[in-house]
Amino acid sequence: MRSLLRFAFPGGFVLAAAALFWRPVAASDWMASVGPLFATLLWGLGVLLALLFKQVRAAVIQGGLILLWAAIGAVGLGDDALLYRFLLVHLPLAALLVLVLPQQGLLRADKGLAVLVFVLHPAAVTLLLTSRPEWAAAVVDWPPLLWTARLLAGALLWLPALALALWRWRRRGDVMDAGLFWAFPAVWLGLLWMPRLDAARMAWLAGGVILILAVLEKAYRFAYRDELTGIPSRRAMAEQVESLGGQFAVAMVDIDHFKAINDTYGHAVGDQVLRKVASRVEAVGGGGKAFRYGGEEFAVLFPGKTRREAIPHLQAMRQAVEKDLFVLRHWTRPSKQPKRPMKTSGRKASSQNIKVTVSVGVAESGGELAAPHEVVKAADKALYRAKDAGRNCLVTG
Ligand code: GH3
Ligand code: MG
Ligand code: MG
Repeated sequence: MRSLLRFAFPGGFVLAAAALFWRPVAASDWMASVGPLFATLLWGLGVLLALLFKQVRAAVIQGGLILLWAAIGAVGLGDDALLYRFLLVHLPLAALLVLVLPQQGLLRADKGLAVLVFVLHPAAVTLLLTSRPEWAAAVVDWPPLLWTARLLAGALLWLPALALALWRWRRRGDVMDAGLFWAFPAVWLGLLWMPRLDAARMAWLAGGVILILAVLEKAYRFAYRDELTGIPSRRAMAEQVESLGGQFAVAMVDIDHFKAINDTYGHAVGDQVLRKVASRVEAVGGGGKAFRYGGEEFAVLFPGKTRREAIPHLQAMRQAVEKDLFVLRHWTRPSKQPKRPMKTSGRKASSQNIKVTVSVGVAESGGELAAPHEVVKAADKALYRAKDAGRNCLVTG
């Protein structure tokens, strides 16, 4: 449920709002007068933001919307317009390519496929439209693309791009993939609403907004989320710690003998263990907020809580980690097919489990500890004592 919401927000909500409420907005005087300029400015802003954060896919789409809108304005659009039918086929194809091509390759002219779809295909169609309209008509007068069937045909054509974006999001959890998944139907909706241009512009504006939000969310995550574990980063913690006041407790959590895990099983397995422990730490109860503090060390903030209130939740978390068994999946069965067969001699059996424990140090505000960062320091000292006390335990500072 939570992951569904994470997928649908904000892109799905923007799309739904555009689909449901476009009528009064599109018909407003304001939209009629400044709408065209506003749309171009918004897509332009989208291009700039996307390039700033190196999101070439979003930049290509936003730039494409500007160019297409200019072309539609110049050529005009009727139900039977050739340009329109061309777009019905071209846009879903281009969308698929935007997804398939490597980000940086999208802007490089030496990528044959990109040149074909973004340059040759549009150029050939333009040439046809101007020099041999009767040929062009024969080519694009393919019955399924005629007006009456465009809903179904359009939806089917977009299906591969949508499926790929969804699959990628499920695999990597990249917010840009979710953004693309919602931006594509917005572009398609614009096509459906054509030749009503004010409505179509609303749909494409929604697409632009969806992509801008996705780029911003991606930038935010880049700054405040730890890439490996997906939980908030140390930078996010630094900002929250300074805003803490009154009563609060802080815990530092460190994986025991983690270096040995890396040394025995390799860095990739170490990463996997780190991710799993992070998810356990993040699931700590009592309103605790988890952060990746560094390497194999986590911090948990308990705003408004005393040390005594936080301890049962931390102990439960420590025991949950202890009970977990980390099955060695990547060990004999790597996720990617290796180029050369892997030597398995000397390696441990695939059924091997790794046991992991953590040590915890806790401190609370009040007493001599005036500043929040001093409480963090005290928790860190307590953690060292937990290590000295034999590990897999909790010590208060
Ligand atoms: P202790 O019980 O005293 O905490 O021992 P330890 O081995 O856990 O502590 P130590 O500080 O000696 O080693 C921490 C190791 O964590 C060293 C470093 O290579 C590893 N590490 C830090 N970040 C990462 C990471 O992102 N991935 C992996 N796989 N290893 C990491
Ligand atoms: Mg450690
Ligand atoms: Mg450490």
